[in-house]
Amino acid sequence: MFIVFEGIDGSGKTTQSKLLVNYLKKLNKKVFLTKEPTYKIAGNVIKKALDGRKKLNSLAIQLLMMAERSEHTEEIVKMLKKGYFVICDRYFFSTIAYGSAENKNLYDALFDFNLKLFPLPNVLIYLKVRPEIAIKRIKKGRKIFEKLNLLKKIEEKYEEILKDRRINKIVKIIKINGEKSIKNVYEDIIKEINKVFVKYERKNV
Ligand code: ADP
Repeated sequence: MFIVFEGIDGSGKTTQSKLLVNYLKKLNKKVFLTKEPTYKIAGNVIKKALDGRKKLNSLAIQLLMMAERSEHTEEIVKMLKKGYFVICDRYFFSTIAYGSAENKNLYDALFDFNLKLFPLPNVLIYLKVRPEIAIKRIKKGRKIFEKLNLLKKIEEKYEEILKDRRINKIVKIIKINGEKSIKNVYEDIIKEINKVFVKYERKNV
């Protein structure tokens, strides 16, 4: 089963993906935790672009992310075939949301491209946190207002993706209120993921 975490920066993806991995391991499942970007192909360029040391437009950044994803998904598929649960902290929904936040024209192109080229996850866990709260958690934005405005646009894009029929008919979407305590968010995720397991097991009997 392929599970991805999405949400704006500071929404708790890294924290909760690790907790989910621990939960699954306790159930004796084979688990592979991974994240994007992998930084394996264009690592330095992507890092510089993300922290503002190199100016790249949104399409250029996302094309680099997709080059990495092309290699990354090979590894993901390999692990899925071996029977692993794959938990991925960010996936192509990030490309669509971040890539189209400033340049709305990119939404459909990025959506189609990623949908056609890369495997869909079984489950998408979206951690919803208001940008004002997320930004307080990360506290590293230099131009904080710029960043806040951008996060607001990204959040809107995520909401658009969750409503998009191209995925919400196929992928199980779990939307979680990420503003609760780490423990409560975790419990909400486990409750929902257990429902998915029950359905999945029934289907595979
Ligand atoms: P992301 O991977 O989405 O950027 P992180 O999991 O790295 O988010 O969390 C960002 C920061 O917020 C970390 O310092 C983390 O400990 C903290 N954090 C995560 N979840 C919560 C929560 N539910 N409430 C308060 N702080 C949180």
